[in-house]
Amino acid sequence: MGIIFDIKRFAVHDGPGIRTTVFMKGCPLSCQWCHNPESRSADICTVLKTVRIGDKSFIEDEIVGREMTVEEVMNELRKEQIFMEESGGGVTFSGGEPLQQADFLLKMLAACKLENMHTTIDTTGFSNWKTLEKVAQKTDLFLYDLKLIDDKLHKTHAGVSNQLILENLERLLELGKKIQIRIPMIPGITLTEENINQTIDYLSGLKLPIEGVDLLPYHNTAAHKYERFGMENKLGELKSIRKSDLEETKLRFEKAGFEVKIGG
Ligand code: SF4
Repeated sequence: MGIIFDIKRFAVHDGPGIRTTVFMKGCPLSCQWCHNPESRSADICTVLKTVRIGDKSFIEDEIVGREMTVEEVMNELRKEQIFMEESGGGVTFSGGEPLQQADFLLKMLAACKLENMHTTIDTTGFSNWKTLEKVAQKTDLFLYDLKLIDDKLHKTHAGVSNQLILENLERLLELGKKIQIRIPMIPGITLTEENINQTIDYLSGLKLPIEGVDLLPYHNTAAHKYERFGMENKLGELKSIRKSDLEETKLRFEKAGFEVKIGG
């Protein structure tokens, strides 16, 4: 059984083509900008939800996450298989951090491969290597998050060291895996002159090529979730940025030789 908190159909920003994205619960990081704070706990949990009817509002319990078997998830994936095949799409496992439920993930990947579905993992890369190596055997593409190159800042803003993340990225490349780097662009945190320079230097210094870089503009759309769930929102005042705000940063990565998209 896996604990899933959402299944999104017709996703077009989670890898190539039209995809179905399976969101799995549990994440070992605690990014201050997390847009799915309800996904971090590995367990099924109850959060408070405000329901508005006319000018009245009511507080209701909302259950986040449900147990599903591999077959139950496969049944959901098969519904969209025709669109996946025709568009060159497939299945993306996201979270949370899907590697947190490694046994279930491995079974899901094996089931997808049996049915010729293209598999993508959207990951923080924060996992022991043995697990990641097994997962990599059945994964066609990694969407690999890079947040901050400075380890001290990474610990401050994402809650863990980035050493394992960087080591795993290099090991996956050595295995010959396809990796699309994703960088959340958070003004004043990841979107700083220093971090952009360090990230370009780091990626340029990799011995093997990555597929490309996605710059993900910060949106404060999760603010209402923090409020609803009674969680502290450290970036409460931070405003969303527009795609156009990232054109200059995009150009800098392009000048360094990377293929870059703004958004997923
Ligand atoms: S890695 Fe993703 S899910 Fe985990 S805390 Fe960071 S933003 Fe949230």
